[in-house]
Amino acid sequence: MARSGLDVCVLEQKNFPRQKVCGEFISPAGWSVLADLNVASRLHAMAGPALKYVAVYPEWGLELRGALPVHADGHCARAIGRDVLDFILLQRAAKLGVAIFQPVHVSQVRGGARTGFEIFYGGSPRPLRARMVVLAHGSPRLGAMNSLSPGTVHTVGRPDAPHSGIAGCLCFKIHLENVHLPDDTIAIGGVEGLYAGLVRTGGSGSAPNAGPVTCMPRYNLAFVVERRLLRQYGSAAELYGYLQEHNNGFGRCLRHARPIGDFLACGPMEPGVRQIYADGRFFVGNAAGEVHALIGEGLTLALDAGQLLGRVISEHRTALAGGEDLTVIGEAYRDRWLDQFGSRLHWGNVFSQVLMQPMLSALATAYLHAFPDIFSMCLRWSGKQAGVVNVR
Ligand SMILES: Cc1cc2nc3c(=O)[nH]c(=O)nc-3n(C[C@H](O)[C@H](O)[C@H](O)COP(=O)(O)OP(=O)(O)OC[C@H]3O[C@@H](n4cnc5c(N)ncnc54)[C@H](O)[C@@H]3O)c2cc1C
Repeated sequence: MARSGLDVCVLEQKNFPRQKVCGEFISPAGWSVLADLNVASRLHAMAGPALKYVAVYPEWGLELRGALPVHADGHCARAIGRDVLDFILLQRAAKLGVAIFQPVHVSQVRGGARTGFEIFYGGSPRPLRARMVVLAHGSPRLGAMNSLSPGTVHTVGRPDAPHSGIAGCLCFKIHLENVHLPDDTIAIGGVEGLYAGLVRTGGSGSAPNAGPVTCMPRYNLAFVVERRLLRQYGSAAELYGYLQEHNNGFGRCLRHARPIGDFLACGPMEPGVRQIYADGRFFVGNAAGEVHALIGEGLTLALDAGQLLGRVISEHRTALAGGEDLTVIGEAYRDRWLDQFGSRLHWGNVFSQVLMQPMLSALATAYLHAFPDIFSMCLRWSGKQAGVVNVR
């Protein structure tokens, strides 16, 4: 938006760099957007190595290993710490002339396309005024603003996300060292009621101009858990032990692992499509729609949706300057969003539902062994392209 010549400001409630519950995997398409923002090469120096394989470790049955694709423009999947990624993105925005308000908590967004908006934040008696608003506050249930309907006043913390069969899981993450996992592989899978992703997320050493962000070699373990299991086990550390004990693949990887820092937690997760445009408000990332954490596509969807919105605005730049009705731009954004991301969200959530059922998961991996092309298709539907190269 700033590159299209708009006056933009960002309001962010946390001080960066900060950690965030996330698997930290970014697929090749996401790296392509980061390259378009001119931050990919800087981030590469602080990211984990290029990822070539995905290993699926089900609780029962056969393990599966598939090839991850390389994007047409040469980008591979890599994982990167959220402390690093979010800090560098915000730095880039500032360099493009975006005004950064941080740390400030947005409490209300008032107004609409016809009247313009007032944004109330951080106890400031005077709101910011804006012609349009992009809501990029993440999942409504994670303490952010809820989905918004036109013309009303919106307050923080009233969730109304649609429910799906996999909604309600709680999420954890921890950084680890001494993990036994090939550097070029991301592992996914789990045990009944708990699903996890493990990947090397830190760089190989120092990075130029890293400022306050670190890039030491480290692994990220993120997992989502049904509430009943948390009640039964009582803590993230106990759940970590449960995963190690009951899943052979993760057990092997984590046998000698040591934590770096504490577990972080958030939730509940609420996968599904929310709202994309409403009366001058444009939604991106999880605020627009959330894909199951297990699929590892949420960051790419957020980056892609941001890029799409930037493109739509750039295409309407002249009309916008001439006072064009925002509805035209909003509807163009919504149609293209649904076209590009609707089926990715749907199939990603179906795929993760299968992986979260041990019986279904065992049957599915046996089936995928027999018909490896179907595995490629599942990964493609969920946003990735792959071919199975090896099974054991
Ligand atoms: C366990 C787990 C594992 C995951 N693993 C992966 C993975 O491996 N790969 C992947 O691509 N995705 C993964 N995801 C999903 C990914 O984390 C999200 O899809 C992604 O972070 C969404 O980005 P976003 O910009 O929409 O929201 P966020 O990243 O949540 O950013 C929202 C920002 O808005 C700020 N904010 C919120 N409310 C306010 C307010 N009122 N005022 C001011 N600021 C506010 C927050 O502080 C935050 O910085 C995972 C998610 C979970 C829970």
